[in-house]
Amino acid sequence: MRIWDCHSHLRGDETGAYVLEQMDAAGIERINLFSAYPGSGRDYREPVTRTEVRRAIEHVAAVQAADPVRIRGLIFANPRAEGMIEEMERGLTDLGLRGTKLIPDHWEPCGELVAPLYDKMQELGKPIQFHSGILYGMGDSSRFCRPVLYEALLNWPRLRFSLAHIGWPWTDECIAVFGRMRAAGGYQTERCQMWIDTCRGTPDAWREDALRKAVPFCGVERLMFGVDGSPSNLAANAPVHVRKDLDLMRDVLGLSAEQIETYFFGACEAFWGE
Ligand SMILES: [Zn+2]
Repeated sequence: MRIWDCHSHLRGDETGAYVLEQMDAAGIERINLFSAYPGSGRDYREPVTRTEVRRAIEHVAAVQAADPVRIRGLIFANPRAEGMIEEMERGLTDLGLRGTKLIPDHWEPCGELVAPLYDKMQELGKPIQFHSGILYGMGDSSRFCRPVLYEALLNWPRLRFSLAHIGWPWTDECIAVFGRMRAAGGYQTERCQMWIDTCRGTPDAWREDALRKAVPFCGVERLMFGVDGSPSNLAANAPVHVRKDLDLMRDVLGLSAEQIETYFFGACEAFWGE
């Protein structure tokens, strides 16, 4: 079975060869790989320099260059960092990176701070992968990560995006936002700008319930499989996550082999417009 991990984080010191080695060991054919975060581990009020932004972007670009078909590099943007939009544009055009990753660290997804970044992404025709749901980091910022706050993306109708973790614990809210975005696209899924990144966050006790609702409502073609690990722990974590989701999809939800292939690979392929 082909596996596309839609959600993985670089630490900032990996080589492309190492990432490919770990993907092979994990049974992952393709991966969406996020750069290190400029300003990682610091309070959001502390300044983040353009040099730090550029270092993170150049690192993910170098990793992607090892195999741009298997590795899809995304820029983990910090909307408060110095020169962020200019550096992001350079990464997405000159360096060939594929998209942007965002976690709302004390800024609202429907607020003014991030709007110019959305404008730029829509202009460039590249997608954003957002965190959504409870946030185990970045201080007390979970309230900025409620799925419904992403309804504002309606105002950027050509911007493709995904919400991670099925928005856990607000999984129903996340699924409902998908319905909202599909309605905005005239109830045609192919015109809907949203995907759901199902990487964990949802503990086992909630996951069956969330997928039982998300699969029929959204369709597997809009649900992407993800591990939410790093290259260094991929070989340990990916097979476990694949096994658990496969058991659920096949044995509990009764999906066909074709639907399972779509969930583990095809949905992500479609997210990239392939
Ligand atoms: Zn993550």
